[in-house]
Amino acid sequence: MRITDLYNSKKTVFSLEIFPPKKEASGSPESIYHTVEKLAASKPDFISVTYGAGGNLVDNATCEIAASIKKNFGIEAMAHLTCVNSGRDEVREMIRRYKAADIENVLVLRGDIIEGSEVHSDFSHANELAIEVHRNSDITILGACYPEGHYESEDLHSDIQNLKYKIGAGVGALITQLFFDNALFYDFIGQAKGAGIAVPIAAGIMPIVSKRQIEKTVALSGASLPHSFTGMIGRCENHPDELRRAGIDYAIRQIRDLIEHGADGIHLYTMNNPDVSLAVYEGIADLL
Ligand code: FAD
Repeated sequence: MRITDLYNSKKTVFSLEIFPPKKEASGSPESIYHTVEKLAASKPDFISVTYGAGGNLVDNATCEIAASIKKNFGIEAMAHLTCVNSGRDEVREMIRRYKAADIENVLVLRGDIIEGSEVHSDFSHANELAIEVHRNSDITILGACYPEGHYESEDLHSDIQNLKYKIGAGVGALITQLFFDNALFYDFIGQAKGAGIAVPIAAGIMPIVSKRQIEKTVALSGASLPHSFTGMIGRCENHPDELRRAGIDYAIRQIRDLIEHGADGIHLYTMNNPDVSLAVYEGIADLL
């Protein structure tokens, strides 16, 4: 199923993002399927699987997991694909594998450039990857966007201008980077529409439930932290159970507000934690 059709037919598309288990982590790679089995209870419209995040070069696990989500769990899947470390032949090979595995939707990404490392790629930006996917397959293409502007961009205006290259290359829907301040998302939507971007834009939300996540993910994301969020952290950061409850509650309130304001989709960054994701789902299920 084309995910773009879902966005065009459903009021609010609810999707989940998972990542392939890290090779050095304890537990078998199959552990991800227990996670998917639990996540299925939240009836996601699709599940997306990251690719090469954290520096893996070629991620065969992404293809395998996305294919299994579709085949064994009957849930639509989207595989991510980056190009920052790949030549054209490698990218074509991944597109071929995705097609052979019956994957119909791909999130095209440039990937992060690791500071100090040399870039060996035939692609400068995600729009060029979109063109390559388009040329070599009939796969539906989605892309990433940044409500506060991508960190390499001078400002939000120039980032939105660059976003138009992706749309021109065939990207049919966008998913945002995580954010904690809905006002910034609404402002971004207004500016994107004003710039002529008419594709659906789903809001990427990550429930923050641990101190480690605050120190790592939140700091790395560069997302602005509104008073309501920092106040919550200040009250709970040394009380793990309270922080977990408050983080889930914050995500629920954020998502309810987004749905009430007509967001095209909610994309939950699950961090492979089905219990947290299901708790969030229970708090929003009546609106989906
Ligand atoms: P691009 O669209 O190429 O943009 C990067 C920068 O270049 C921006 O500043 C933009 O304004 C500018 N730019 C874009 N096009 C042009 C152009 N044609 N000319 C000049 N400038 C241009 N990373 C992973 O490694 N694996 C994943 O699975 C993954 N999944 C993600 C999922 C989502 C929903 C999001 C939001 C991000 C994800 N990322 C992932 C992170 C992503 O790879 C990084 O944010 C990366 O730095 C930028 O990727 P991009 O596709 O947005 O790049």
